[in-house]
Amino acid sequence: MNLETLTISEARRALDAKEYSALELTNAYLSEIAEKNPEIHAYLEVWEKTAREEAKKADDMIARGESQPLTGIPIAVKDNILIEGRIASSASKMLENYRASYDATVIKKLKEQGTVFLGRTNMDEFAMGSSTENSAYGPSKNPIDLKRVPGGSSGGSAAAVAGGMALAALGSDTGGSIRQPASLTGLVGLKPTYGAVSRFGLIAMGSSLDQIGPLTKTIEDAQIIFEAIRGNDKNDSTSLPDSSRSDLGNTKGRTLKIGIPRAFLAKGVDPDVLVNFEKVLAHLAQEGYEIKDIDLPSLPSALAVYYIVMPAESSTNLARFDGIRYGLSVPALAIQEVYAKTRGQGFGPEVRRRILVGTFVLSSGYADAYYRKALAVREIIRADFARAFESVDAVVMPTCPAPAFTFGEKSNPLAMYAEDIFSVPANLAGVPAISVPMGTVVRDGVNLPVGSQIVASHGNEETLFKIGHDVEGE
Ligand code: GLN
Repeated sequence: MNLETLTISEARRALDAKEYSALELTNAYLSEIAEKNPEIHAYLEVWEKTAREEAKKADDMIARGESQPLTGIPIAVKDNILIEGRIASSASKMLENYRASYDATVIKKLKEQGTVFLGRTNMDEFAMGSSTENSAYGPSKNPIDLKRVPGGSSGGSAAAVAGGMALAALGSDTGGSIRQPASLTGLVGLKPTYGAVSRFGLIAMGSSLDQIGPLTKTIEDAQIIFEAIRGNDKNDSTSLPDSSRSDLGNTKGRTLKIGIPRAFLAKGVDPDVLVNFEKVLAHLAQEGYEIKDIDLPSLPSALAVYYIVMPAESSTNLARFDGIRYGLSVPALAIQEVYAKTRGQGFGPEVRRRILVGTFVLSSGYADAYYRKALAVREIIRADFARAFESVDAVVMPTCPAPAFTFGEKSNPLAMYAEDIFSVPANLAGVPAISVPMGTVVRDGVNLPVGSQIVASHGNEETLFKIGHDVEGE
């Protein structure tokens, strides 16, 4: 088996045909990890012993004829998703020794299928960043070019899958953290509709934006994981009812229409990336799609809105890490000092920056000028998308402005934030979006992958998968 190209669906067939066992498959991944992880640093921790135990249980399920789509499939889990008894640190010193006391709903669902968990993957601290350089435990490297970042914040998950160290991985996406690393490492990355996948047991960043989703090698694999983890959950009050799922019923037998926000793309996309993007559009037109330019006039405001709403929500969510209730606690004589020392030492610079911005935009003197204004513009963005989806089935644009950058290249926080320009609109509108590889561009003699992003209306992941298959087939 070639671990770098193996897919879930191929492994499923081979496992059920008893060509190899889940234990053999897991062992193959564990030795690949032992060989490559010291250099790539995709994993913060590898769970050899329990992974083997889970694989043996999966082999028993397969032997009993109880195999499900993810039985015996070895995956990696981002370090902000809780697994009972395991450390979940969100790549922060604050939670270095925090052990989860329960399973996230997505984990519970995967355990029921007999999935194998290989380990927890590196990320930007509390999911804040686009490169993993904000991890308190050092960055991960892009397996395609070790001088470059794997993207972020789910960069460890992307590096694990792209480096052949996991068959697939779970990530979380608040403003692009699944799609952007997928784009930079040549993978498929899905951010589901807000509320489609339970957030119970995901360490919160921006609660109105966060979604868990898969990083995989193919659309088919992303679909398999999405089916396994989706569904209503009484433990998440923002979880959607199961009746909200769509089945492509309204699109059967008619030409699908794709909208391109041309005016928005004119700004800031790398010319080489645009060439690949045009090829994707030409291919889709050939496949019978109707491609038309559309106007989404509020899109240029999305980044500014995101960098107000997200820090506001993050600063609120991070208030619980005070040295008293969870995680790190730095002793001091007065309570104020405990707070200050714990938060000063436990949080890295980017997290502190966002707490400052978030507290500022929520403060009584500025909430009207910033936070409430951002919420109002967010509604306009939502409405713009809703209007667009009256005339098109999907909006397509590049996932990121450029291919993977080198370490330190975006040390200015604003340059790093600009990386999210095309990914944050979907989170603000709550609609599903997927990144699908669209070839490579050459930098310093290396072929670097880039992704195209498909965005659909609420609950229409099926549309993403259908168009994604056609992009993939290019
Ligand atoms: N790069 C974005 C940020 O830093 C997105 C993060 C995310 O999706 N978790 O906020």
